[in-house]
Amino acid sequence: MQNDDTQQQAFAPAAQQPYAAIQSGKRNTIQRQMIFAALCDLDIHATAEQIYDRVSVQYPSISKATVYRNLAQMAESGEILNVGNFNDGAVHYDHRLDKHYHFACDACGRVFDVSTDLGEICGKMTGLDGHEVKNHSLTFSGVCRDCLKKE
Ligand SMILES: [Zn+2]
Ligand SMILES: [Zn+2]
Repeated sequence: MQNDDTQQQAFAPAAQQPYAAIQSGKRNTIQRQMIFAALCDLDIHATAEQIYDRVSVQYPSISKATVYRNLAQMAESGEILNVGNFNDGAVHYDHRLDKHYHFACDACGRVFDVSTDLGEICGKMTGLDGHEVKNHSLTFSGVCRDCLKKE
């Protein structure tokens, strides 16, 4: 793996130079790319802990604090979404930015995307009395298909 040319082109700057020799801007970009890639690969609305576990396999020098900080900054700037905690106390992140909803598995803690048209429900809402709705969130919970098979 170390002598594989294509591997080296992809990750050599971070993996093979002394940590201090890498310009911090460049290091930040690489870290963010790896964090974003891990979030997409995991595709379960991963927590910072899960993303750290994934990234640290390829990039052992990365610290947990760096992963947490970058995720918070990326959510702040709108590159990813902080979708809150799903009763497990940990913040989950989403690489999907379009409006959609979530189904959280109570058994394994994974969070799946759900699409539904809420237009009809919104039309039936009462009690708004002149208030303007600007945002809404909706979370479903239960047991995912993989956990159902295990039961
Ligand atoms: Zn599950
Ligand atoms: Zn999502």
